[in-house]
Amino acid sequence: MNVLLIGSGGRENALALKISQSKLLNKLFIAPGNPGTSELGENVNLNPLNFDEIKNFCLEKEIGLLVVGPEEPLVKGLHDAFITDSKVSHIPVIGPQQRGAMLEGSKDFAKAFMSKHGILTARYATFTHDSFEEATTFLKEMEPPYVLKADGLAAGKGVVILNSYDEACQTLQEFFAGKFGEASQKVVIEEYLCGIELSVFVLTDGNSYVVLPEAKDYKRIGEGDTGPNTGGMGAVSPVPFASAEFMEKVENRIIKPTVSGLKADGIPYKGFIFIGLMNVNGNPYVIEYNVRMGDPETEVVMPRIKSDLLEMLMACANENLSNYKIDINPNTATTVIVVSGGYPGTYEKGKEITLPNNLPENSILYHAGTAIRDNKLVTSGGRVFACTALGANMDEALKKSYELAEGVGFDKKYFRRDIGKDLKLYQNR
Ligand code: ATP
Repeated sequence: MNVLLIGSGGRENALALKISQSKLLNKLFIAPGNPGTSELGENVNLNPLNFDEIKNFCLEKEIGLLVVGPEEPLVKGLHDAFITDSKVSHIPVIGPQQRGAMLEGSKDFAKAFMSKHGILTARYATFTHDSFEEATTFLKEMEPPYVLKADGLAAGKGVVILNSYDEACQTLQEFFAGKFGEASQKVVIEEYLCGIELSVFVLTDGNSYVVLPEAKDYKRIGEGDTGPNTGGMGAVSPVPFASAEFMEKVENRIIKPTVSGLKADGIPYKGFIFIGLMNVNGNPYVIEYNVRMGDPETEVVMPRIKSDLLEMLMACANENLSNYKIDINPNTATTVIVVSGGYPGTYEKGKEITLPNNLPENSILYHAGTAIRDNKLVTSGGRVFACTALGANMDEALKKSYELAEGVGFDKKYFRRDIGKDLKLYQNR
């Protein structure tokens, strides 16, 4: 079968590697891909938001499965564009239609969905410019810190946590004044949850689901979780505090009602659900839903999946997941993200990259922000590589991830040296 994978980051490099290993694969295309994916299939220069271009390509290359990596094409209706066009409606798409993608595209929609289906989440209310006074009254009733969330997609920058009431009112005003354009015309204000975060990933066909390995990521740029948020500076899977008892609560209280809630609401859904959770005293609360895999979490989740990913995705496409048993490697996977100095602020691109001659055993160097210019590998983004490794335990995996991170070279390279450090405390419990 021919497969088209949409996206160009480390996540897509990890998905591409897994798909390329499938016994069902004939040819893999990645649009637009990166130098890492070009070694696993053919990169094609398609714009993920030009749906006609994608449809024509799928027909021309007899694509049997379309896998969508990032959220934006889904929120903008890529899957719907296939379903509603009889020329391509036979091609299955992994990733929800627009209504399902609202779980990520609108925080108000996601919170209302959770309330309706009894899924544990922080107490909240949603406001618009017209209800500014009510919003300030609601804030006054809450304890600090105050959590303000722009309703729509804001490139990971739409959530602000503030300690003072005055700052919260000021931010609210900025949001309504159009800080994130249309995305912040509605604002969700919610209760602050105190706990430790992790992410759980599910593949659902709309009826059944498969739970993939869970992961913990590190969002801040600085060690000790300091400084501004980034796309993610590292990840670890499994998560030592995600005990069997905790994961059972996640499955019963969150995953099952999410999948059955989508069905009850008449929202068809074939694809990944990434559930951002807070573990509050041993109980899981949903912080957010994403309608695709995470980046960098995919870079630790995929290496732990022993099953044939394409077979699993086809079972999803054919609504056959109830019979599917996933095979997971019990070892630990870690990834350390190597970034351009200055990221997530301004940084320079086009730095020439040197790669290590030998990779440590059971390690993978995924490309994220790299490009080929004048036959040379150069940096082309903030997050440049994901240095992933598998080991019998977290220390062993991290040692190899760091060896890899040290081994790649470019001017102003930076990476956090404390990935997984906070988890050591839970390791021997
Ligand atoms: P992402 O960049 O992961 O897509 P996002 O912009 O969609 O994030 P959220 O994941 O909802 O936003 O929130 C970002 C971060 O803010 C969370 O990872 C968490 O650390 C923190 N956060 C969000 N909601 C709460 C809450 N209610 N209590 C405490 N912390 C929270």
